Order: sequence, then C-alpha cells, then structure tokens
Amino acid sequence: MSRFLNLRYKKLTPYTPGEQPQDRRYIKLNTNESPYPPSEGVLTVLNRQAGEELRLYSDPEASELKKKLAARYGVAPENVFVSNGSDEALNFAFMAFVPERIAFADITYGFYQVFSELYGLQTQIIPLREDFSLAVEDYEHIGCPCVIANPNAPTGLLLPVSHIERLLQSDPNRLVILDEAYIDFGGTTAIPLIQRYDNLLVIQTCSKSRSLAGARLGYAIGCKSLIQDLETLRFSTNPYNVNRLTLKMGCRALEEQDYYDENCLRIIETREYTRSKLENMGFRCLDSKTNFLFAEHPSVSGERMYQELKDRGILVRHFDRPRIRSFIRITIGNRKEMEEFLRQVEAILAD
Ligand SMILES: *Cc1c(COP(=O)(O)O)cnc(C)c1O
Repeated sequence: MSRFLNLRYKKLTPYTPGEQPQDRRYIKLNTNESPYPPSEGVLTVLNRQAGEELRLYSDPEASELKKKLAARYGVAPENVFVSNGSDEALNFAFMAFVPERIAFADITYGFYQVFSELYGLQTQIIPLREDFSLAVEDYEHIGCPCVIANPNAPTGLLLPVSHIERLLQSDPNRLVILDEAYIDFGGTTAIPLIQRYDNLLVIQTCSKSRSLAGARLGYAIGCKSLIQDLETLRFSTNPYNVNRLTLKMGCRALEEQDYYDENCLRIIETREYTRSKLENMGFRCLDSKTNFLFAEHPSVSGERMYQELKDRGILVRHFDRPRIRSFIRITIGNRKEMEEFLRQVEAILAD
C-alpha cells in the first residue's frame, strides 16, 4: 500500500476471481464460462474495418443494443441500461441506490460484500435456510435494499418468480436488485414484473449463456426512473463504458439468440448427465438451475477434491468458507470435458 492511498480504502478486501492460470493447459471448470464459442455473426464483427473504427468513441447511448435488448425482453429502450459486464451494473446499482445498509444472503456472490466495503455500507447478512434455500419471508421486514442472485451462486438454487413478486409487494419502498446471471439455464426471468413494480431492478450478463465473458457485456432492466438514475452515474463516471466491438457483438448475439438457446439446452443436458454420474459415485448435488453444479462427497473434503483435480489438470472452484467448505463448484463444460472430469473423480475416489 502506498502512503497516498485514501484511508477509506485501507481495509478493502478485493474480489477474488477464479484462477486463470497460465502455467499449463487445464480443463477449465472453475469460472462458469461457456464451453461453446460465440455465434458466427459475432465472430465476423472482429474484422479489419471494425479495428480501424476503434479510433472513434463508442456510442455513449448504446442505442442499437438497447433497442435490441428491449425487443428481446418486451420492454422499452428506456428500461434498459448497458454496462461493462454485469459487475459494473451491480456497482452502479450499489452506488446509486444503497445509502447506508444492504441485505444479502450469507452464501452468495462474493462481489456484494466487496461493493458494500467499497461504499462503506452496513450489511445485513441473512443466512440461507439449512437446505441452502432462500426464504423471501426473511427479507420482508428488513427496511433496506437487498440484492439477490437468482439462481443463487454458488448454490445454483432457483427461486420462482412468484416468490420474487411476493417480496416486491411486501414493501414497495424497498428496492430489490435481482442478479439473474444464470437465469438462462432453466429459470424464468422476473423482467416482466418491472412493468408493475418500480422497486425491481433486474441485472443480467452476456458472460455466461452468450459466451461473451471476455467481451464484458451486462445490462440492467427496470422502470424508467431507476434507469435514468443509473445513467446519471454512468455519465458521471465513464460514458463510453462499453467499447465499440462489444456493442456490435452484443447486437449480433441478440440476432442469433437461437444458437445460444441451443447451447443452453446442451449445457442443461450435460449438467443433468454429470449430476446423475456424480450422485452414483456418492456425491450430494444441490438442485442446480445454472451452468454449474455444487457438490459434496461424504468421504473426500472439498479442499482435497479441488487440489487432486488440479493436480490432474482439471480446475474447479472451492470456497474456504463456513457452511460450504465441503463442496466444490463445477462449471459444466462440453461433454468430452465432463467425461474426463468424471474419470478423474472416479480415480480420486478409488485412491
Ligand atoms: C458471473 C457473475 C456475475 C458477473 O459477471 P460479468 O462477467 O461481470 O457480467 C454477476 N453475478 C453473478 C452471480 C455471477 O456469477
């Protein structure tokens, strides 16, 4: 730390991303990326002409992409905010809408804690139930904004839209930030509810189901006034937050939605296949509606499973945290990667 760092940030513990090791080739099942490449149209965006156009700023209004996202989700372009990954949309939402205190689950996406520290917020940590389910009743009288990942990470569990609606109704003055990073892998989005509830902001990403993790593209959908507030902060921070190439790739991806829908189906199928194989080997898997599995084995610790898999060239994620130490989180790769993963797990169990 330099002696110039603002003391406000002295105690900040930054987010720990999953490893992106460069030392050898791994089968990468640790950061929930897609095993499939972006669609053909997206790849054609990366040509010489697009490169030459990089001398020009990107459209600060992201008009075309907003129009396409709006059409896809049955809302108006004024209901859409576009960001550099959904982490940035979350960042702006914290900045804009959380003055003092925010509530979220004890087991959820790590960035919520990081943003809370960054903005000096109090946190109201609401433990998930014994079975890792989230009970919306626990959020009904909190009297402060909350952020909920649905499906949750790293548990993979999904809340039905009816529960979200009950939560919105229980206190119209409490904002609900709903992080739907994994909604395309078997859930139903709550986006239609924004037409009736002005206390809902839904955040999604192109990183997982649309194979664009490296392009950094996320978006938030909510009532016009919420979006205007986010725009005020964006224009006060970085009006060109999404680069030209990414804006174009996002537009093409939305034109080729069928390809991504098919990929999601393939991933769901591979998930269920992997899950049944793991259960046959004695694992307990939570009921995932995402592109990963969260699994524990009665006789091998999460730490050991993680390390032995890594030694064998397969990366998964382990969280050294209360309640979930015994688990590993396994991103669903393609069928061949999962076959290799299962072979190695079998060998570890046989050791
Ligand atoms: C991956 C993820 C995000 C953010 O992804 P971006 O790449 O920044 O769009 C947000 N929330 C959850 C729960 C995630 O798993």
